[in-house]
Amino acid sequence: MGFKLDLHVHTESFGRVYMDEKSLAAALKARGLDGIAATNFSNISHALWLKKQLPQYLIIVGQEVWSSKGHIGALGITRKIPNFRSPQETIEEIHRQGGLAVAHHPFLVMGLGRLAFDLPVDLIEGYNGMIGALWIHNFLAQRRARAAGRVCVSSTDTTAVEFIGQSRVEVMTDDRMDVLAALRAGRLRMIRRPMPVPVGFIARNFLGFRRLAPCRLHAAPCFLCGNSMTVRLFNRKVVCEDCRCEEVSRVACAQGHHFCIPCVMRRIGKADDAVDISRITVYPHGYPAEE
Ligand SMILES: [Zn+2]
Ligand SMILES: [Zn+2]
Ligand SMILES: [Zn+2]
Ligand SMILES: [Zn+2]
Repeated sequence: MGFKLDLHVHTESFGRVYMDEKSLAAALKARGLDGIAATNFSNISHALWLKKQLPQYLIIVGQEVWSSKGHIGALGITRKIPNFRSPQETIEEIHRQGGLAVAHHPFLVMGLGRLAFDLPVDLIEGYNGMIGALWIHNFLAQRRARAAGRVCVSSTDTTAVEFIGQSRVEVMTDDRMDVLAALRAGRLRMIRRPMPVPVGFIARNFLGFRRLAPCRLHAAPCFLCGNSMTVRLFNRKVVCEDCRCEEVSRVACAQGHHFCIPCVMRRIGKADDAVDISRITVYPHGYPAEE
């Protein structure tokens, strides 16, 4: 027997909880999974909380770290990893804590790109279920990983509890204490199944809906109003809500709010404190209807 695990799950994002222990336990049971790695941004508090609440499952305490060159997953860590350090420093810190470093979605937005294959990451996320099976970025990641002799994993990157484990790994070991070592050694099987393409969301995005909850497949809420970030067909002149600088961009929230990259980094830096579990709002089924 092995461990069926989804290694990239966002259970919480910027104070919004997308799965609590009850909905997570129900989903793990329904989908025949042995556990997940909770890889939230900027904190490990919610992962620690879930691990404590669900001792019958394997909850790997992880984090999705914003390195200065792109997202790096940390699996099996014990302390929060600081954001915006160089990839090298980030990986060193993960290893110092006895964790595994994963190049998350290397060829997707915010991925490390080709750099991933020159870095001492332990795993490459060769299949990110968020955008689907046949998409070029997954194909490229797997092909490059194979050529470089790197271990690939597949995961969902989801915030929606009903999709956890849709893509996953089966780790070949009987011993829960051996799971990280088995992953590092590549003793695993990838199950690659895409999540449904959120057609309605994409249509509403391009039709310019002003109230648009973040897509259920990934958490990308506006810092200001909580609506989804959207991508427009054409570039537009936008003003940063924080520093008022003018930029040309295709990305803004549904209400038109935009933040420049340095301000995004400042905002995330501020959110970089431990999440107080007793005070956060729970959205177990996704998103607030109106906010
Ligand atoms: Zn990411
Ligand atoms: Zn992610
Ligand atoms: Zn907004
Ligand atoms: Zn700004």
